[in-house]
Amino acid sequence: MAFGWIDEQASARRRAGLVRTLRPRPADSPLLDLASNDYLGLAHHPEIIEGAAGAARTWGGGATGSRLVTGTTELHGELERELAAFCGFEAALVFSSGYAANLAAVTALAPHGSLVVSDAGNHASLIDGCRLARGTTQVVGHADPDAVRKALGAAEGPAIAVSDTVFSVDGDAAPLTGLAAACRAHGAGLVVDDAHGLGVLGDGGRGAPWAAGLAGAPDVVVTVTLSKSLGSQGGAVLGPAKVIDHLVNAARTFIFDTGLAPAATGAALAALRLLRREPERAARAREVARALHTRLTASGHEAVRPDAAVVSVRAPSPDQAVRWAADCRAAGLAVGCFRPPSVPDGVSRLRLTARADLTEAQIDRAVGIIGDTRP
Ligand code: PMP
Repeated sequence: MAFGWIDEQASARRRAGLVRTLRPRPADSPLLDLASNDYLGLAHHPEIIEGAAGAARTWGGGATGSRLVTGTTELHGELERELAAFCGFEAALVFSSGYAANLAAVTALAPHGSLVVSDAGNHASLIDGCRLARGTTQVVGHADPDAVRKALGAAEGPAIAVSDTVFSVDGDAAPLTGLAAACRAHGAGLVVDDAHGLGVLGDGGRGAPWAAGLAGAPDVVVTVTLSKSLGSQGGAVLGPAKVIDHLVNAARTFIFDTGLAPAATGAALAALRLLRREPERAARAREVARALHTRLTASGHEAVRPDAAVVSVRAPSPDQAVRWAADCRAAGLAVGCFRPPSVPDGVSRLRLTARADLTEAQIDRAVGIIGDTRP
């Protein structure tokens, strides 16, 4: 029977306790939110909402076409110019998601005969970019510039190394300086995904490449999402103008995808302008992450020291992670839960995200609930 194999997979998933379900988030949720990626607390900011609403009033509910046909508005250009300037790069190109931006960057920069060296801890969207690319991918150990250097040494054509700047599961940072040196030693490009760095790391949230002194480098390309610290939706690639021009002409997720909706573009632009005016939000998100980590480890939890806003707490097993997250929820706290197959190392975790707008009392309350519900 058609799709019969799906029943087998579904029962295997049920037996392993790994079934995922969707739960609508109520508009007026009473939960303390440490599960979203709204790192700067901007998603509900009146200026961001007005950015979205104003853009929709002027430009309509959708982009109406691909960027190369009718889907480019003035707002897209403004966002691209301001994002590139803010992060210190020559040019930027906005996509309908960070996922699409990553597929674009990797596929368009890895032609036939090229080598892509990819960190074992990279986000699924970079992994899928490698799978779609015409070049050959070599996966290397996590956060290991020496392994990258060695792998690049075997390249016979063009080569890139790809890495998250902040890894989404444990919140640890990539060794960007070492990766850039490894790439330069072999004339390779470095493509980094700053989804969790933009708005949190670097001066006033200019991102991890800025913090590492790599902003504007001719051999560095950065991808970002507009859906985390900027409180909107969408993605972008930043880099040298010639790379951005190449993407406009060669990246399939740019050419064949409808442009980013005006509302999302307007919201991201408003968030970027607000972040320029209120740069202290970035430092506060980092401070909240450190406070969460310090208080969690002081109460005996095994938590990874956060390099940005993601705080990861180890759970004993996938089942217990799910139950722990559910018990937190029942006690009024929303946390993320990572378990196989989202985590390739098989280690389940609670994933907490620091938000710049959390108060000291809220941090204490969150740590208290996590302690009280511990399996
Ligand atoms: N890269 C990383 C590291 C991410 O965590 C995410 C979002 N989960 C993405 C890319 C994808 O971005 P978007 O949600 O905008 O598609």
